[in-house]
Amino acid sequence: MKATRPGHQPPPSPTNSSGRVCAHEGCATRLSVYNPRRHCWQHTELVFPNYRGKRLSPGKA
Ligand SMILES: [Zn+2]
Repeated sequence: MKATRPGHQPPPSPTNSSGRVCAHEGCATRLSVYNPRRHCWQHTELVFPNYRGKRLSPGKA
């Protein structure tokens, strides 16, 4: 199969000028085009994996 079709490639999308910024109020940090989030890394809520049973168990040891 021939993979390439000259002249039928989609034009480069002008996503660079989309100007998405952090959704946090007052934050003007630009989001990367490849960043699917709505907040910049500073305002993205970090969710750490919850390792159960090891350190976070109060009392019983
Ligand atoms: Zn932000």
